[in-house]
Amino acid sequence: MIHQPSTPFQNLVILKVKTTSQEKNYDFPSEVIQISAVVVDVKNNAIRENMMFNEYVMPVINSKLTENCVKTTGVTQENVNNARSFRIVNEKFSNWLESNQLVGVKSAFVMDSRVDIWQRLQYQCALIGVRMPARFRQWINLWTVCFIEAESMPEDNTRLLADAFWIDVPERRLTAPEECLILAKVVQNLLAQKFHLTINQVLTCFSGVRAQGLPIAEVYNKDWKYDFKLSPKFYELVLPLIPWNVTNFDLNTYGMCPGCNMVFSYCRMVRFEPAHFQYPAWLYRNREDIILFAKQAHFY
Ligand SMILES: [Zn+2]
Repeated sequence: MIHQPSTPFQNLVILKVKTTSQEKNYDFPSEVIQISAVVVDVKNNAIRENMMFNEYVMPVINSKLTENCVKTTGVTQENVNNARSFRIVNEKFSNWLESNQLVGVKSAFVMDSRVDIWQRLQYQCALIGVRMPARFRQWINLWTVCFIEAESMPEDNTRLLADAFWIDVPERRLTAPEECLILAKVVQNLLAQKFHLTINQVLTCFSGVRAQGLPIAEVYNKDWKYDFKLSPKFYELVLPLIPWNVTNFDLNTYGMCPGCNMVFSYCRMVRFEPAHFQYPAWLYRNREDIILFAKQAHFY
């Protein structure tokens, strides 16, 4: 019998991104402070031991990490003090992907939620005024593959996914490379059990919610910034690209934006950055309170 892999990709790149944070405040200009990745070779269903990426990034806006940030990410002040800027680390990451032949249609990113790419990387790119790289616009969300319900706190996702596959995880806080390795084991299990692993989330320039152009009642609630469930509604309005859930991904559409049917580098979004053509002017008009998250990235 011929071995039929349950994914069209040769390499699956498990990616984890950590950012600065402030406890119970979601109106915070979160900056990337760590990028980690490990690779699963699909043909042999093996983790590529010599192929790991792990770099810390120096935050610029809030250079001092909060106690809560250190506690939840495992990144120390010393780690980031000696780190390079996001621009340099991102370039290093891009070179690492290219030199290991992890770019293009034969590879896909694997994430434990939509947050790391959609929210964390997109926001970081906006903060420093660079375009969201095309490579970050589609991925496999493990949460969607394994569960039907909405995701919970992103910091717990790795543990929950590991539990589902009886993978032992230490009780202490996990570092980003450790999380990547655990998620890689989840991927190995899914491949062994013939789960179909393909792109299931794509960043699109068009949002059905935003297209209605109607103010959403919740965003007038000033408590949104303290509410974990409400804050993503804000981010969906403010961030130019939003995640689009894809069922039955067609490999011929790899690298295409579902919002405008153009390849990512020609997506109509490009003309509008950092704002977007579904710009929520009503959200920013006559506001007494400042939306720091949006202001800091020059969205308004
Ligand atoms: Zn587009």
